Amino acid sequence: MSNITLGILGGGQLGSMLSIAAKKLSVKSIVFSDDQEAPAQNFCDDFIFAKYDDKDKIHEFSNKVDYITFEFENIPYETLHELNKLKIVLPKPSVNRLIQHRLAEKDFVNKLNLRTTRYVYIENKKDLEPLTDFLPGILKTTTMGYDGKGQYPIKNIEQISSLNIDFSKKYILEKLVKLKKEISVIVTRFGNNKYEIYEPIENTHENQILKYSKIPAEINEKLFNQSKDWAIQIAEELKYIGTLCVEFFIDRNDNLYVNEIAPRVHNSGHLTINAYNISQFENHIRAVCALEQIKLKKISNAEMINLIGNQITPYRQNPKLNDNQFLFDYQKKEIKEKRKMGHLTTLK
Ligand code: ADP
Ligand code: MG
Repeated sequence: MSNITLGILGGGQLGSMLSIAAKKLSVKSIVFSDDQEAPAQNFCDDFIFAKYDDKDKIHEFSNKVDYITFEFENIPYETLHELNKLKIVLPKPSVNRLIQHRLAEKDFVNKLNLRTTRYVYIENKKDLEPLTDFLPGILKTTTMGYDGKGQYPIKNIEQISSLNIDFSKKYILEKLVKLKKEISVIVTRFGNNKYEIYEPIENTHENQILKYSKIPAEINEKLFNQSKDWAIQIAEELKYIGTLCVEFFIDRNDNLYVNEIAPRVHNSGHLTINAYNISQFENHIRAVCALEQIKLKKISNAEMINLIGNQITPYRQNPKLNDNQFLFDYQKKEIKEKRKMGHLTTLK
């Protein structure tokens, strides 16, 4: 045993895959989640169920662990800040605070002189009216959005009055990009100029939810290098420790845009489990727990399909797989529409 215990905030599939990677490294994992049914409890060594603002449970958790990380960015900043006084939290809570807010995140990327979509801050309905310049666009909540949640596509000015938008929340309005492709780059940063980077992954979304990912991405060499450069620049500027993912848009003129940054392991990187010597999850744990950095080697091209809602059912009933196929069932009890239930990776 390495004698290291890692605390993971959040108990979804990313927490499960982090726990599995921890086990491989002989690191003990303790998952903290506010969901009693959290699937990661099936994969970790110890599980704490409590609200993220439960001070007693937070202290109990921190007493049991050496390092703390998180599997999703919407953990309250106060919780991360409190924990960071007691144990090492990586990536740093300040990184999370910046990135969990879409406006702050986009301002940060622009300050680095990297391109984003055009965007504007929206506090109330009136703010929207003079903004025809940004239409067609997408109105997105500044916080707590994922898998297209909290997003309203707006085609034209006439549509605004008919939209039922909850203005107790704040938004950004983003100009729609005429997409040619979406890609993501996953990088694990270990320290100053020390990182492992995966090749760009090509992603296809359906209803704003990731459906397919594949390597190699069908992009030109310039975009291949530019997307990796930008991801490294972002990780360096944040002095990030751990695995980070940058989602990019490519428009019809082959311009690259940063869409968003995920301060964590990412769905598009599930194929790294089978396609590389070290997965994004293992690299995250190596970086956070100050373990050895090992040079990344690609083993194979690959394609991953997310199994959403009912799509898991035939695989549960009769998982007929070839030798080059790897099924992951997240073991979520309830099948829900739009819920990510599992994924299938095929090596090519
Ligand atoms: P989430 O936090 O839900 O992942 P994103 O901002 O990444 O939100 O949006 C989800 C998906 O919606 C994107 O991957 C893309 O397919 C589409 N989308 C979002 N914003 C834009 C935009 N400005 N132009 C074109 N497509 C967009
Ligand atoms: Mg996204």
